[in-house]
Amino acid sequence: MSTPKILILGAGYGGLLTTLGLQQRLNYNEAEITLVNKHDYHFITTWLHEPAAGTAPADHARVDLHKIIDTNKVNLIKGTVESIDPKAQSVKLADGKELPYDHLVIGLGPEPETFGIEGLREHAFSIRSINAVLQIREHIEYMFAKYKNEPGREDYITFVVGGAGFTGIEFLGELGDRIPELCQEFDVDPSLVKIYNVEAAPTALPGFDKDLVDYAMNILQRKGIEFRLNTPIKKCTPDGVELATGEFIKTKTVVWSGGVRGNSIVEKSGFEVMRGRVKVDEYLRAPGYENVFVVGDCALIFNDEGRPYPPTAQIAIQEGENLARNLSSIVRGEKISLVPFVPALQGTLASLGKGEGMGLVGTKKVFGTTAALFKKGSDLRYLYKIGGLGLALKKVKL
Ligand code: FAD
Ligand code: NAD
Repeated sequence: MSTPKILILGAGYGGLLTTLGLQQRLNYNEAEITLVNKHDYHFITTWLHEPAAGTAPADHARVDLHKIIDTNKVNLIKGTVESIDPKAQSVKLADGKELPYDHLVIGLGPEPETFGIEGLREHAFSIRSINAVLQIREHIEYMFAKYKNEPGREDYITFVVGGAGFTGIEFLGELGDRIPELCQEFDVDPSLVKIYNVEAAPTALPGFDKDLVDYAMNILQRKGIEFRLNTPIKKCTPDGVELATGEFIKTKTVVWSGGVRGNSIVEKSGFEVMRGRVKVDEYLRAPGYENVFVVGDCALIFNDEGRPYPPTAQIAIQEGENLARNLSSIVRGEKISLVPFVPALQGTLASLGKGEGMGLVGTKKVFGTTAALFKKGSDLRYLYKIGGLGLALKKVKL
């Protein structure tokens, strides 16, 4: 019998944890494991709001895959997945290469959800990769430089963040810290700079604990952020955003953080999806395909009340770990010992800029420095998990 081929698409939280788990559990001769990723690094998505605002270097959020993957056990391919043919059991890359598989793991991550709002795709930025955040940071700095050369153009120093979910809130926390630095660097009067958050729901962080939301909004307002709640963005143009109220905010910088959907490659490859996400079974399998597994933001799972779990790194990590265990059993012909995936939620923590945060640890509310420290602790645990103590100490800023 030939060695089974396991092909993993995407080295984000879900794909990476699956790969590392398989690398640890399986011997060299038990499976041929291949990991395909667009870049030769893993990026810590949960930190991207920092380099986007310019409060941390983008490099800090990158982890070289060669430093954490055992390339004697895993064939690492830097390549872009173009399509999946689940019937032919093959994946096509952008360079034309075809990769056959016996077992497939899809971990291609999210894409911004624009709900068909006119102009968002073309004119708004989104915090989704190292390259994307480098562009946001550079653009913000360029706007300050332009303003100095064209005084009176306040639209250059007006910034709009669409959506007050966790991504929007965390980015605003950083932007609120960064703007005073830029004002000093470019000699701009801080009172002229405007930062708006536009949110469709009646509150920021809809559905989250009220005390924590109030705390977050208070901190952000103190940093100069102006909230427009209950106000959906209707349209985005090269010159600004049109709100449902009819108001038009003139700006050259719109950062869209209004939600995510699964990677469009999954839908285009013929899988049944809801907002781009595959409703997987308890072993994370795609409907109709025993040998196709989906992890992370491309997977849709439900709680006991039938409500979808939000797409988070926390769940993607746990899915990757569960799948590595189950796939090892499948490869060894021990299907009987498969373990269903059940998320073990540990809480939610959001940063609100330097030394500030809020969230739930289990069910306990935490605020301020305590929350920021818990968040650092959780970052440390993740880095230790993927790269040991060396990586954890190198990356976590205390
Ligand atoms: P990703 O981590 O996005 O990885 C997908 C991988 O696939 C990437 O390496 C990408 O390069 C690769 N890829 C994509 N397309 C292709 C292709 N065509 N070919 C090859 N490779 C490809 N969640 C939390 O639980 N806690 C947090 O504190 C938190 N903070 C966040 C902060 C921010 C600013 C953001 C944006 C999100 C945050 N999240 C957080 C959500 C979390 O980051 C996502 O749920 C998580 O990244 C999803 O993991 P994933 O493995 O599905 O995808
Ligand atoms: P989200 O879906 O959580 O929030 C999007 C927000 O945009 C919502 O509040 C929504 O009402 C708003 N919105 C939608 N359409 C709008 C419109 N037309 N105009 C104005 N506002 C509009 O998306 P997200 O914040 O990008 O988060 C994505 C996932 O990542 C979530 O599951 C989140 O929990 C997770 N995440 C977690 C953390 C953390 O735990 N610290 C940080 C970032 C993201």
